[in-house]
Amino acid sequence: ERVAEVEAGVVVIGAGQAGLATGFYLQRAGLVPGSDFVILDAAEGPGGAWPRTWPSLRLFSPAGFSSLPGWMMPPWDDAARGFPPRDHVVDYLTRYEERYDLRVQRPRRVEGVARDDESPNGRLIVTSGGHAWAAQRVVSATGTWDRPFWPTYPGMREFAGRQVHTVDYQGPDDFAGQRVVVVGGGNSAAQILAEVSVVADTTWVTTRPPRFLPDDVDGRVLFTTARARITALEEGREHSGVAGLGDIVMVDSVKDARERGVLHSLPMFSRLVPNGIGWADGTTRDADAIIWCTGFRPALRHLRPLRLRTERGYVPVGGASGTQALEEPRLHLVGYGDWTGPASATLAGVGPSARATAVAVVGDLS
Ligand code: FAD
Repeated sequence: ERVAEVEAGVVVIGAGQAGLATGFYLQRAGLVPGSDFVILDAAEGPGGAWPRTWPSLRLFSPAGFSSLPGWMMPPWDDAARGFPPRDHVVDYLTRYEERYDLRVQRPRRVEGVARDDESPNGRLIVTSGGHAWAAQRVVSATGTWDRPFWPTYPGMREFAGRQVHTVDYQGPDDFAGQRVVVVGGGNSAAQILAEVSVVADTTWVTTRPPRFLPDDVDGRVLFTTARARITALEEGREHSGVAGLGDIVMVDSVKDARERGVLHSLPMFSRLVPNGIGWADGTTRDADAIIWCTGFRPALRHLRPLRLRTERGYVPVGGASGTQALEEPRLHLVGYGDWTGPASATLAGVGPSARATAVAVVGDLS
């Protein structure tokens, strides 16, 4: 039976950086947090997915280039060239939420967003644990951490060793003295390989040769290039974007791994065998553990009742904000990656699409 419904102009689902940035702009547009809009988050505490990453994770851009709208991330100046560690990000997001009094309700895992055609002006009903909100607009900002991507290879079930994804990784000590395969060509793979290789015998495999950014270049260039590409495309000009640049930022631990001769990857294996991995030419390599740093997909399970058509797991979005669900204009999606705005899945990059979303939503409401 229908549970008690709370009227809310806007419900924001997720209080990671994307949800917080959206809340900042909704408030700046005059909406009152906790009444005109509510932010619901499944986690027990603040920080989005950041508290769930591994303790030694470093940002791939300096503090000053990892800020949300309104308040710069406090500087982090240590030997690591200003690349802040995870806990600095968690502290920043925690204080950001307090600073703007965003009144996040947690823990509140949203189970579903559904149309309520009975209600006079077509509200969307957001349900979580016996509670329901009747919202005029919904912003989904649930990130990707809850949807780790596991590729499938023959023999995965037969492999006798341990298999973990980036989301399960909590540090190198679990792998000390073992033969470990690290799969993936991104920053997570490089940083995890760098520290596991200090205590274990590692093998790095990638589907294509890894692309390192120059030592003096960091995440900033990824953001500025992503932005420049979008501007160019909007003006009808060509722009290769970050394609030609590289993926892996040379944070100190990765540079140290290079000095130790660790940063050489093998082509992707074709299958797993009970005691390791194997390639098409018949060669095999023993392994005790495999760490799959193979990325993520958007966490959109809660949107299923809306029956939105998806393309490769992504919801077609557009509109003035570039984040409005084309098949459900009362829904916006923020922070999931370039498909919801250039570099929108980063601290420095989520601001513009959060702002455009708040402007569109407040414009609709008024
Ligand atoms: P999240 O931080 O994942 O927040 C989503 C929130 O939604 C969570 O709090 C979760 O509890 C909540 N939620 C999910 N589902 C529900 C539900 N059904 N109901 C209610 N709440 C829900 N970016 C950078 O800018 N610099 C970096 O150096 C960088 N390094 C990265 C390293 C790694 C290993 C990873 C994985 C990402 C990195 N990123 C980096 C990218 C990006 O900043 C993070 O992924 C960030 O967590 C994305 O923020 P978000 O708010 O979109 O999602």
